[in-house]
Amino acid sequence: MGNINTNLINIRKQIIAAETAYGRAPHSVQLLAASKAQPIEAIQEAMAAGQFAFGENYIQEALVKISALSDPRLEWHFIGKIQSNKLKAIAQSFHWVHTLTNLEHAKKLNSFRPTHLPSMNVCIEVNIDNETSKSGIVAADVLALAHEINNLSQLKLRGLMAIPTPQENFAEQRKPFHRLQKLLHNLQKQGVAADTLSMGMTNDFNAAIAEGATIIRVGTAIFGPRSK
Ligand SMILES: *Cc1c(COP(=O)(O)O)cnc(C)c1O
Repeated sequence: MGNINTNLINIRKQIIAAETAYGRAPHSVQLLAASKAQPIEAIQEAMAAGQFAFGENYIQEALVKISALSDPRLEWHFIGKIQSNKLKAIAQSFHWVHTLTNLEHAKKLNSFRPTHLPSMNVCIEVNIDNETSKSGIVAADVLALAHEINNLSQLKLRGLMAIPTPQENFAEQRKPFHRLQKLLHNLQKQGVAADTLSMGMTNDFNAAIAEGATIIRVGTAIFGPRSK
């Protein structure tokens, strides 16, 4: 800790540079701070540096942070693997869910979403590399799930999310992000209103921005290595 402010300044510069380099509109890429395993103090430090969108993976841990921090500018994104018995807590406490992978979860999330809150922003997580060990649905199933989500009044389908296989080479990093971008364009062509590509982490966010990312989820480059 202590470097969070500096790290955020550097990352914002890199985002602006990438937007310029790849012909992206200014401010078209949102930085989501992946704060799993980070203490509340680290989040407060990021807030003091002007960061208000945070992504959390573990619901117990997230609820402690969400109830301790009450700034109305805060935006909480659930980016972890969804367990069915946690959907009520997710529906009550988050603004976004990036990791929807099936209709059953979508329906539960919809029914648990309190009606006094705005509809929940959701992304479908896609297994973009077709890895057997990865979560996310295969590309061929995305359109059908998108149509189903559009019928759920408390959910607002925003787009697609993926965590590709880590690659060192920039050109290789771009390929799965390019496939996800094509998939979003295909949804749009089929009449699905969606505007979000949640893709890119510390090691590959430049490639993701080159391929149209609108939200990059960055942990290590902001907070340093996770201790647990
Ligand atoms: C932890 C995490 C990130 C951030 O990863 P870094 O490599 O630390 O930037 C992004 N997305 C998800 C889903 C994560 O779990």
